Order: sequence, then structure tokens, then C-alpha cells
Amino acid sequence: MMDNALRALVRRRAGGVCEYCRLPQAAVPIVGFHVEHIVARQHGGPTVESNLALACSFCNFHKGPNIAALDPESGQLVPLFHPRRDNWTDHFAWEGTAVVGLTAIGRATVQLLAMNHWERVEVRENLQAEGEPLAG
Ligand SMILES: [Zn+2]
Repeated sequence: MMDNALRALVRRRAGGVCEYCRLPQAAVPIVGFHVEHIVARQHGGPTVESNLALACSFCNFHKGPNIAALDPESGQLVPLFHPRRDNWTDHFAWEGTAVVGLTAIGRATVQLLAMNHWERVEVRENLQAEGEPLAG
């Protein structure tokens, strides 16, 4: 069970930004962000602060219950980016409005979460056109 206080804590801690792709919640006000289990419940992930993150609906949908993915460069199975343990800027960088993976973890996460799907790039382009900085 996840109570409202725990949800509120996760949302506050994330500062209203998806902890995977850094999309600001304000950019898509109609679509609610999800408080998600970093390690899914079906893998035994507990409902505690250290296993919860704020994710946009795009990241949440593509991540599903996955905890690992293939690095498209090496073909190696690697863990997904873990917002509580990993620093975003160690694993990702912006190339214009695209997110690029700097590490095997970053590349695997960008690919599995479809972070550069055209619809998502379009959302970022619109944000930039409105003068909003891309978070991160
Ligand atoms: Zn996201």
C-alpha cells in the first residue's frame, strides 16, 4: 500500500520533473505523472521511499516491470537507471532535444523507455519554443 503522505513526498522530492526523462509535469498538465516502483513489486521491490520515483506516463508505460535492458551498443544486459542510486548527469546528457545515454545504463534506459520517440521530442521542442529550459 502506498499512502498519500508517501506519494506527496515522492512528488515533492522530484520537484515536479520525471526522474527518468526530466520532463516537467507542467509541460503535460493533463497527463498525471506516476509514483512508480523503481524495482517493480513483482520483483519484490518494496513500497518505500528508496524504491519510489516520479515518472511521466511515457517513461512509466515503457518501463513497465522491467529492471534491466540491453545496452544497444554492447548488447550486454545492464540494470536500468535507478533514480535513487544513480546521478542523472552521470548517465544522460542532452543533444538538442534528444536524451543521449553516456553509459551502458544510460543507453539501455534511453532505448527501453523510448525517450526519443518523436512525440516526446516534439513535446521538448514545444517547451523550448516557449522559452522553457529542458530540465536537467
Ligand atoms: Zn519521463
